[in-house]
Amino acid sequence: LRPVHVIGGGLAGSEATWQLAEAGVPVVLHEMRPVRKTDAHQTQGLAELVCSNSFRSDEPLTNAVGLLHEEMRRSGSLILKAADHHKVPAGGALAVDREAFSAAVETALVEHPLVTIVREEIAGLPPGDWDSVVVATGPLTSPALAEAVLGLTGEASLAFFDAIAPIVHTETIDLDIAWFQSRYDKPGPGGTGRDYINCPLDRDQYEAFIQALIDGEKTEFKEWEQNTPYFEGCLPIEVMAGRGPQTLRWGPMKPIGLTNKHNGSKPWAVVQLRQDNALGTLYNMVGFQTKLKYAEQVRIFRTIPGLEKAEFARLGGLHRNTFLNSPKVLDGQLRLKALPRLRFAGQVTGVEGYVESAAIGLVAGRMAAAERKGELLAAPPPTTALGALVAHITGGAEAETFQPMNVNFGLFPPLADVPKAKTERKPAMARRALADLDGWLGRVSTAAE
Ligand code: FAD
Repeated sequence: LRPVHVIGGGLAGSEATWQLAEAGVPVVLHEMRPVRKTDAHQTQGLAELVCSNSFRSDEPLTNAVGLLHEEMRRSGSLILKAADHHKVPAGGALAVDREAFSAAVETALVEHPLVTIVREEIAGLPPGDWDSVVVATGPLTSPALAEAVLGLTGEASLAFFDAIAPIVHTETIDLDIAWFQSRYDKPGPGGTGRDYINCPLDRDQYEAFIQALIDGEKTEFKEWEQNTPYFEGCLPIEVMAGRGPQTLRWGPMKPIGLTNKHNGSKPWAVVQLRQDNALGTLYNMVGFQTKLKYAEQVRIFRTIPGLEKAEFARLGGLHRNTFLNSPKVLDGQLRLKALPRLRFAGQVTGVEGYVESAAIGLVAGRMAAAERKGELLAAPPPTTALGALVAHITGGAEAETFQPMNVNFGLFPPLADVPKAKTERKPAMARRALADLDGWLGRVSTAAE
């Protein structure tokens, strides 16, 4: 078999490569780092997590992303396997040691006999003799490739802003002021009770902090960025602060379910930090994505009780995020209508999030593998989380108002038989999804023979 070319070794590209190779199809994976860097990646590792280390909820029956985890596990996902092997305690969430996770993904691909990895940028349309290509270049697709693709679609560029939260060295957090506790004391999978560190603020401290955020010096937008909107799920804290004095207290700084372990008091507001690596030497500031200038971040965040002497392993930042108007430009096989030898996967297709990006990589890889063998693999049923996402980006969403989407139960077709008890509805949808997925996986193995 001739190789399929995958461009981009992030979450989606690594998963697509794995699915292709596991189906017996040779793959050449082209990753531009370290030859060319992006504004957000810090390493040259495959499947690098650029911001949070969390894959969000791991509960398959009540949460759509947890269901997506389970569907991916059943589909032999490399990303989920590596995440499960390198998880760190995080309450009901699946969070990972980012370095160990990335290394595990890279090792599995390097060691696969059908995978060749080339470190180079594909700076324009892929060569004409690559008859099957998976483009998984992510929100920070290099400009040369992005422009070439946009030229084919005739679309104006689509973009929004995403921001990164800072990471703190644990030993620099003052645990005489801060304390370990999960919200409502929900035990983490590791059972260590060290999933989260909490820094308390009283009312005066909170109000001064909000004012400092509003007054702090921000990174300026360039002219062409002026009209780019934010992704609502990832607003910079200073933007939230500007929306009203209580916004952060109802958002990332909410104090509910937490009691100060040092004096038994209920704090007015809390800054939570979540364990970021297996060793527990790093914690990230939950929901604290920001576009404050670096020096301002250090100055303002050190006013948070417990963080007076904090040393930062990484400061927050802001980046533009590019994606296709997929409902308009992609077909049901995730191929570009204008040039069907190009199939797209990951965040660039207009899904949002690590897990969703990897999920589209999984489906694109399987579709490309079937195609290489002269077969057609239908998309997963829309009743599954995988299928609901694919259906959304390839036709379900309105092209005019298309915005990147996290997986959620609102994307699923309604149940034929809706349970009376509200609490039973999501589990019923999840059970239907898993049963239907098993049928699709059965079809895949026939197709792959
Ligand atoms: P990526 O993981 O970015 O992979 C794309 C790869 O393609 C990169 O390795 C890049 O180097 C390579 N590449 C690009 N162009 C070329 C080229 N021309 N030739 C060769 N290689 C190329 N999601 C979350 O769930 N949680 C978060 O906390 C989160 N934070 C984010 C913060 C920022 C700043 C951004 C931009 C996004 C964030 N996201 C987050 C969204 C999204 O989940 C991630 O961007 C995710 O990594 C997307 O996966 P991907 O595989 O599509 O792209």
